[in-house]
Amino acid sequence: MMATPDSAEFDIVVIGGGPGGYATSLYAGAAGLSVAVVEKEKVGGTCLHRGCIPAKEFLEVASVYRTVAGAKEFGVQADQPSVDFAVSQSRKQKVVDQLYRGLSGLMKGRGNTIFKGTGKLEQDLHVSIDGEDGHTEIAGRNVVLAAGSVPRTIPGFEIDGSVVLTSDEVLDLDRLPTSVAIIGGGVIGCEFASMFADLGVQVTILEALPSLLAACDPDLVAVVARSFRKRGIAVHTGVTVNGHKPNGSGTTVFYGDGESVTVDAVVVCVGRRPLTDGLVAPETGVQVDDRGFVVVDELQRTAAPSVWAVGDLVDTPQLAHVGFAEGIVVTKMILGEPVVPVDNSRVPWCIYSQPEVAYAGLTEPAAREAGYDVVVKKDPFGGNSRARIIGDTDGLVKVVAERDRDGRAGRILGVHLVGPWVTEQLGQGYLSVNWEATVDEAAQFIQPHPTLSETFGETVLALTGRGLHIG
Ligand code: NAD
Repeated sequence: MMATPDSAEFDIVVIGGGPGGYATSLYAGAAGLSVAVVEKEKVGGTCLHRGCIPAKEFLEVASVYRTVAGAKEFGVQADQPSVDFAVSQSRKQKVVDQLYRGLSGLMKGRGNTIFKGTGKLEQDLHVSIDGEDGHTEIAGRNVVLAAGSVPRTIPGFEIDGSVVLTSDEVLDLDRLPTSVAIIGGGVIGCEFASMFADLGVQVTILEALPSLLAACDPDLVAVVARSFRKRGIAVHTGVTVNGHKPNGSGTTVFYGDGESVTVDAVVVCVGRRPLTDGLVAPETGVQVDDRGFVVVDELQRTAAPSVWAVGDLVDTPQLAHVGFAEGIVVTKMILGEPVVPVDNSRVPWCIYSQPEVAYAGLTEPAAREAGYDVVVKKDPFGGNSRARIIGDTDGLVKVVAERDRDGRAGRILGVHLVGPWVTEQLGQGYLSVNWEATVDEAAQFIQPHPTLSETFGETVLALTGRGLHIG
């Protein structure tokens, strides 16, 4: 007989142990709620095992390579570097394994119960679990759907794991291909292109839209595109990919108007799709849209009472930290506490290519399109002392502010950074946008000297009408 929610074993049953799911379980566990997490593989999800962490680890390999290759300029004699990618792969795995052990311990410490298997939401807040040990059923007073996403594929490019790859397979490579064609010049495509190119792989990007990183401010994209060009990455935008013909060891990819490129491997980076297949029984009332996303309101509520959804399963930015924030929203809602919904138009975005990209808030075109009269200031890292010291000056800070009635720059609408370590510098830009600070307010804060973050401080100071090092 089915238990009723009142006799449920758990306050919350979470299906999926990725960032959205484990954030819910950690935060709810910290509030004293009993939480079960149903996970078919390992907790940590895409981010820890097949996404953010391994990808950034490989980008760090590229960064170490660049540093060694450029060491002579600093008077440090080092031989011409070479890469043993099997060692890089095993280091990456060590980092992932350590973080996995840390996360598992943390969840245990919060009293979370982990069920291994594939979960499905049934009626009356029951969750069926199919795993190696057979079939079980548990029930919660609430169920949080957090099953995540998988790479999208395109017709004609069947993933075979050796010649046609997605991010899943790239992150498991133990040797580097000589050449790759990357289909999709979005976030994943640009991070992989940057990593491969720095490690000596010949890279071609094939992007359907007119620009790489189409969601970013065009001034940032121009810096990335210039750097890619200088490093020998062939970028073809506005092209359609028409198929490919394997040749034994690699393949020829056809694109555009009769053009082609022959490569060792093709990496398909055309977005990720939500993993809703078989996740909810139709009679639960949970709605799934025609693209497979679970439909939620701004407080992560699905159409079914006490059923919530977070992370890549819902149509919000597919970022681990957005999943974290959504998990906190759900927990507070369940606890009956005051909640501020996630403002998806102002979340922090960080892209770990060389050069790095980081931003929050409206781009200049988006601000203008939204009807704002804007004041914009762009300052290159070339004048920044720390950037000179580290020998990496390629990039800029761009601040988009609303023009006040007196014509001066007022509220900060967007902060856009490209260049050295900007993913570590976005914090104050993110806070300025989300606290709706004016340039006068943000300029009050002292920047430590010498730091890369001074350029943001100098830019907002200059926007007040008088600058220090920047006019
Ligand atoms: P994306 O949406 O960023 O980029 C996909 C790109 O592929 C787009 O530019 C699109 O125009 C292009 N495209 C689609 N179909 C195509 C086709 N047939 N031919 C050529 N181009 C085509 O998606 P992604 O790069 O796959 O990343 C997926 C998600 O993962 C992103 O939404 C992102 O949020 C997340 N992610 C984030 C980070 C980060 O924040 N650093 C890193 C990796 C992934």
